[in-house]
Formats: sequence, C-alpha cells, structure tokens
Amino acid sequence: MSDAIDVAIIGAGVIGTSLAHELARRGAGVLVVERDSPGRRATWAAAGMLSPFGEAATDGRLVELAEESLDRYAGFVHALREQTGIDVEYRTNGKLHVAYTAAEAENLRRLAAGPFAARLQANLVAPEAARELEPELAEGIECALLVGRDHRVNNRLLAQALAAAAARAGAVIRTGTPTAGIAAAGGRVTGVRLSSGQVLPARQVVIAAGSWSGDIEGIPQALPIFPVKGQMLAIDGRARINGRSGRTPISRVVHGRGAHLIPREDGRILVGSTVEEVGFRTGPTPRGVRWLIESATALVPTLADLPLVETWAGFRPGTPDQLPIIGPDPDLEGLCYASGHLRSGILLAPVTAQTLADLLLEGTRHELLMPFGIERFRSRP
Ligand SMILES: Cc1cc2nc3c(=O)[nH]c(=O)nc-3n(C[C@H](O)[C@H](O)[C@H](O)COP(=O)(O)OP(=O)(O)OC[C@H]3O[C@@H](n4cnc5c(N)ncnc54)[C@H](O)[C@@H]3O)c2cc1C
Repeated sequence: MSDAIDVAIIGAGVIGTSLAHELARRGAGVLVVERDSPGRRATWAAAGMLSPFGEAATDGRLVELAEESLDRYAGFVHALREQTGIDVEYRTNGKLHVAYTAAEAENLRRLAAGPFAARLQANLVAPEAARELEPELAEGIECALLVGRDHRVNNRLLAQALAAAAARAGAVIRTGTPTAGIAAAGGRVTGVRLSSGQVLPARQVVIAAGSWSGDIEGIPQALPIFPVKGQMLAIDGRARINGRSGRTPISRVVHGRGAHLIPREDGRILVGSTVEEVGFRTGPTPRGVRWLIESATALVPTLADLPLVETWAGFRPGTPDQLPIIGPDPDLEGLCYASGHLRSGILLAPVTAQTLADLLLEGTRHELLMPFGIERFRSRP
C-alpha cells in the first residue's frame, strides 16, 4: 500500500468536501471521488438554514451535535473566505416563527417556556411587534417567536467555496468518476473500486455519498440510508428592490403556515420545503409546487405577484432513526461513514468534518459522535 492515498472519500457534497478540506489542511493526502460535479445533489438543493432546534428535530443527542456545529460555523466560513475569497453569505439575524392558529400559538408558548428557550435565545413576540419586524406578514397573527440562535448560509456558494478550499489545501477531487464499491483484503480496506473496474488504493475510505451511500458495494452489512425528497422554489424579490419600496419582502428567515421563507442576498426568496418518501422520483411536481406557493402566499401575500424564477427538488439522506451515521465500521478496518444527515447536513458539516478528521488522523473518537455509530443498526449473532 506504499502508493496508497491516506484517505479516499466517496462523494463531494457538503460532507465529503468539508472533510476533504479539513484533512488536507492538516496535511493528509486526500482523494475525493465524485460521479457528477461537487455539491450538485442535496447540498445544492438545500435551503441553507442553520437551525439546531428546527431542522435538527428534537432528539437531544442531535441537538447537542447541532449546537456544537453552529458554534463552529463562524470560524468555518471565515476560513473559507480567507482561503477562497468566496463570501458564503453567513447571516445571523435569526428566525421568526409565526402562529396563525390557537394550536400553533400554544406550541410557540410551550417552546418559549421550555428548557431550550434560553439556549435558543427564543422570545415571544406580540402580533404587532412581529409585523414591525416583518411588515409584509399576513394579518391574523396569534403570536410569534423570535429565535436568535438560528443562522443561515447560501449553500450553493458554500459548496463552491468548500470544493475550492479543499483543492487549494491539496485534496484531489476526481469528478465524473462513479465508484462501484470498496476494495478490501484481510479484514481491512485497501481502496475504492471505480465503476470502470480500476481500483484506487487508499489506507482509509469514507462513504459520504449522501442518499446513494447504501449503493456502495463491499460494505459489511447493508447501510440503512434512503432518500427523503424535498421540493423548493424561488421567487424573485428583486422586482421590489428596484421598485418603490426599496425593501425585500422579508429580511430574515420566517416560518409559518407549514413553510419556510429564506431571503437571499440577491433578493430571491426561497420557499421550502416538502418532505416526501417517494424513492428517487426526481423533479418538482405540480402538487408540491402548489403547496409551496399556497403556503408562501398565505404567509406573505405580496409574494403572489412577484416572478416565480426557479423550482427544484433534492434528496436528503435519511436513516430509520433520523440521525446521521458518522464513525468507523467495527467490522472492516479503515472504513468510515459520514452520511445520513437528513435535514441538517449543511448545519452539521463543520462538526462532522472536524471530529471525523480527529478520528481518521489521530484515532480519537469524540464523545459527541458516540450516538451516531453504525453499530446501532448492526444485528449481532
Ligand atoms: C429541499 C432540501 C432542503 C434542505 N434544507 C436544509 C437546511 O436548510 N439546512 C440544512 O442543514 N440541511 C438542509 N438540507 C439537507 C442537506 O442538504 C443534506 O443533509 C446535505 O446536503 C447532505 O450532504 P451530503 O454531502 O451527505 O450529500 P449530497 O449533497 O447529496 O452529496 C453526495 C454526493 O455523493 C455523490 N455520489 C453518490 N454516489 C456516488 C458514487 N457511487 N460514486 C461517486 N460519487 C457518488 C453524489 O453525486 C453527490 O455529489 C436540505 C435538503 C433538501 C433536499
């Protein structure tokens, strides 16, 4: 294995490229094998919200991992800016949850009185104050909750920056190169086997192939990862910036009527997203797009007359317990997983990359990663 690379990573989404960047920055020889172009799958389709308590569900172990990742985000994007010159539009002006029914209001009040409120920096906001913060919200607000510890990033720019930074740090990214499986001998990994049949030798291999991770051959037991489809659309708020008011329809992330509205720096308003278990059925559907439009315009009625500029769909990598799989394979030395990040892979990228780099380079398995091992899905005789 003298000509073997230190770490081969299968998949150049946000997870694979963050890890490649972190490893290469620390001096490791890294090869990323990507069948398409970097960051063009779930990473490209995402909304870019960094919500430790929202997108990351309510599992305490995941919240802990997500909070840690959020704490690392400012340093993560600062390093990318320094190394690539790309501003990934990291913004920290919070998220406004808006309740229009008594039941929704009750939920927000419960959250505001609950144990996470201080950590969330979550404060109830009266209806009039909510409309002062976001004047174009529909009338009829019961109450609102402003969550300060809820940030955002432009995930498409992030994908570009990560691939550029990884390459600049010395990682090799082979695009247009599908991997068929893992090569192994004597109970340990020896490399990756491309679909062409060629084997690229590597001392360690990380599977970061998103929703397709379970298709990689040679894994000791089937990987329980499946696609969870999400549809989104974008409305062009620039028409308004150029118009009489000079302001965009919203200025921070707003959640209400079941949907999220996410402002981008170029004036676009993203609307997301559906959550569908329909396999790999690609593309937006009339039903999905109709739901997004109805939810968005019920929340901010002025959106209804602005240009609809894009619709898209992507596949979140799901697992049976909705938690990611991050860590080593106990049955095949040198094989690691970094997949199954479902609704929070953009948020979890820094902590995944940094703790996994500690594991791969120093053999240290961080306490934070313990709940996310593949062992939890392994049947033992
Ligand atoms: C609509 C939507 C909204 C979302 N919103 C958010 C959000 O607001 N915040 C958040 O944190 N997360 C969000 N997510 C989730 C987030 O996008 C994912 O968790 C994250 O992008 C997963 O990254 P990944 O690198 O594991 O997968 P991907 O980005 O899918 O990358 C996997 C890569 O592996 C490659 N690959 C697959 N198989 C092979 C093979 N055999 N050989 C070589 N390469 C292969 C693919 O081509 C792809 O480039 C959202 C997702 C969707 C779909």
